[in-house]
Amino acid sequence: MTEPECATYPAYLRRVKSGGTGMKDILVVSHCILNTASKVFQDESELEEEYILRDRLLELAVGKHVQLLQLPCPEFILYGSRRWGHVRDQFMHPHFRRASREMLRPVIDQIEEYSSYPDDYRLIGVVSVEGSPSCGMHLTCRADWRGEIEEKPGPPIMEEGPGVFMEILSEELTDRSIHVPVITMEDATGILEKL
Ligand code: SF4
Repeated sequence: MTEPECATYPAYLRRVKSGGTGMKDILVVSHCILNTASKVFQDESELEEEYILRDRLLELAVGKHVQLLQLPCPEFILYGSRRWGHVRDQFMHPHFRRASREMLRPVIDQIEEYSSYPDDYRLIGVVSVEGSPSCGMHLTCRADWRGEIEEKPGPPIMEEGPGVFMEILSEELTDRSIHVPVITMEDATGILEKL
């Protein structure tokens, strides 16, 4: 049996022991962009548009040798795979916010380290999941929900503004004077297409 031929890794991306070559592009991504298993159980046919965009983004990242740094999924960590879908208003409590800050700390430490060496690393952005109560940046879902699940008083509304997790991430970046934009999957795809 013949060995498969290895694709050649572009020379301009190879690390060298000294000198200025080997700049790495890095995209920080919300957890479920790499791992859709973390998402809340739902009819995923409704996510078709998001999944097409996600596939395109990942194809571009791999094709253009962009490195991916994955954020944790706060909802999976705090509420597991059997959770209900929530809205931002339900996560706006001290424990969720504190836990988000704590789970973000090691990732923000890494972002800070990369951003300290702009000749070696280019941080393209942090990619949000728009509409999420946690990881949306420009759009999040809201409702005044509480009580027994069967008494849920109606569908949530989509409102401009961040989810709780992205809000805290932005605060942490600002506190450390790290200038990395939070961008949508659409924005990220557009940027990678032009690389
Ligand atoms: S909390 Fe964030 S990472 Fe987790 S499933 Fe929701 S949008 Fe994705």
